[in-house]
Amino acid sequence: MAETPLREQVAIVTGASQGIGRAIALRLASLGARLVLVARNKAALAEAAAAIAAAGGPSAHVIACDLRGPEAMPAVVKAALAMSGRIDILVNNAGVGWFGQPLHQTSEEIWNSTLATNLSAVYYAMRAAAPAMIERRAGHIINIASLAGHNPVPGAAAYAASKWGLHGLSISAAEELRAFGIRVSLVCPGSVDTDLSPELVGGKDRGRMLTPDDIAHAVAMLVTQSPQSFISEVLIRPTLKP
Ligand code: NAP
Repeated sequence: MAETPLREQVAIVTGASQGIGRAIALRLASLGARLVLVARNKAALAEAAAAIAAAGGPSAHVIACDLRGPEAMPAVVKAALAMSGRIDILVNNAGVGWFGQPLHQTSEEIWNSTLATNLSAVYYAMRAAAPAMIERRAGHIINIASLAGHNPVPGAAAYAASKWGLHGLSISAAEELRAFGIRVSLVCPGSVDTDLSPELVGGKDRGRMLTPDDIAHAVAMLVTQSPQSFISEVLIRPTLKP
């Protein structure tokens, strides 16, 4: 019989329509969690929900919205709480990135959209979800950052700035929330084979790159650690350089 350590738990995954977020959602569902899948592309979210059902997982709730504004996440949290009055896991994964573009040629539109999606949206999400977790004195908030939040990334300064910012936001909020039994963790992958940006994949040996399932594996590890343990950050590199 499959193990379902997350049975009765509710998990919100942003950016669940494709790539890393979709893999995380499927993995958490396989462990028994009930999922709230969030992104803009409703058809792709419905397909992810169908994939969860086809794998025998619990029925998933789909919410199509743009996370860049402050109004989206309160509605998502409300819908999640309506499922069974609890939010156990929040995975802030939705993200965008433009690569191969020096900062002096980066438009305000790209700068603003990158910061709004990768940083401000995580603040909105944590602000919306934390009170319900504080009330239950439990919860996991997992922010998908990047090795770009640890290193210089020429050609993607806006992306790096958003991920360095996400790092500071996460480790600070982690200290605020751990007294309430809430663990805020960072997962920081190197290059993953997804559609995030063609420049990330171009010229690389895709067979050596990380896969979305590798990141889902790390998230599963975080949400199944023992209650007294707080793994605060996971850095993930491919074994062989692509
Ligand atoms: P992806 O395939 O492009 O997926 C990005 C996801 O974010 C999609 O589901 C997209 O859904 C969602 N999204 C983007 N903007 C949104 C918005 N305004 N509102 C709601 N949802 C939005 O990229 P990925 O590689 O899986 O990236 C997932 C996360 O991993 C990102 O935070 C990224 O920075 C991080 N990461 C990726 C890599 C890599 O090499 N790929 C490495 C390190 C970290 P919709 O388009 O349907 O809205």
